[in-house]
Amino acid sequence: LIAERTAAWTGPGTTSDGHRVDVLANVQDGAGARVAAGTSAGGVGLFRTELCFLDRETEPTVPEQAAIYRQVLDAFPGKKMVIRTLDAGSDKPLRFAEHPDEANPALGVRGIRIAAKDSGILDRQLDAIVDAAAGLESAPWVMAPMIATATEAKSFAEKVRERGLVPGVMIEVPAAALLAERILEHVDFLSVGTNDLAQYTMAADRMSAELAELTDPWQPAVLSLVARTAAAGAAVDKPVGVCGEAAADPLLACVLVGFGITSLSAAASAVAGVGAKLESVSLDDCKRAAAAVLETSDPTSARAAARIELG
Ligand code: PEP
Ligand code: MG
Repeated sequence: LIAERTAAWTGPGTTSDGHRVDVLANVQDGAGARVAAGTSAGGVGLFRTELCFLDRETEPTVPEQAAIYRQVLDAFPGKKMVIRTLDAGSDKPLRFAEHPDEANPALGVRGIRIAAKDSGILDRQLDAIVDAAAGLESAPWVMAPMIATATEAKSFAEKVRERGLVPGVMIEVPAAALLAERILEHVDFLSVGTNDLAQYTMAADRMSAELAELTDPWQPAVLSLVARTAAAGAAVDKPVGVCGEAAADPLLACVLVGFGITSLSAAASAVAGVGAKLESVSLDDCKRAAAAVLETSDPTSARAAARIELG
């Protein structure tokens, strides 16, 4: 039955009682975006721009970048588009933005922290996004990875806003989840990256197979940070999405909706499964599951609690 529902899912994302949730795709280049556009995704919730440039020795020029971003924008005309600025460093080193000789690259100069040392790369990327978006009806949303403080969010948002783009930040550092209210004073939306949020909350390398149980997105400590982030957004009526692996798990996606998450962004292959599951449950089911999950102490109990409410 689930397989049939998944095959038949045509969007838009909604619960059985009509509560709208954007179900979006994660993409990394024009070709991937065209594949994603073949699903019923309502747009792109995470464009990982750094993955376009992993093989580059030198920084791509503004026109080169703009041409690549334009391919992704063109695949989703008139649809929601969330572009993430370069998340270089740690598991995704970029040769032209490299900070070698760090003992702990995951805790080092990565993501937005690169801009604090040299804002040129970020400025040029934002200029390229503006060029790529020229002539579009609505401005793309642009978010920064690895934000840890409200000060970082403020200076990023200023740069994005002055270019006519819509600023947001990723919530993937526990500090940012804990101060989401203050970050929301500066940005228009948040997007929770559960992969890194799990890594940093649990102090466990996301790349380590041996530690996979600790980095399980069903860890109640991680979910409680997602829940508080969603509540902070709801309090000021600003959207809070999830774009990490958690959003690709249909059961967990419903729990996230119960927390008040407003959009789910997952790999193209997971989009229809998430949309179909969401359509089979009510918003109240999601809320009951969300409350039950927050009472548990481990991922196994969290899954079991969610299944009782969501099937
Ligand atoms: C995340 O950390 O959850 C995320 C979506 O970003 P990435 O996986 O690219 O680090
Ligand atoms: Mg991340």
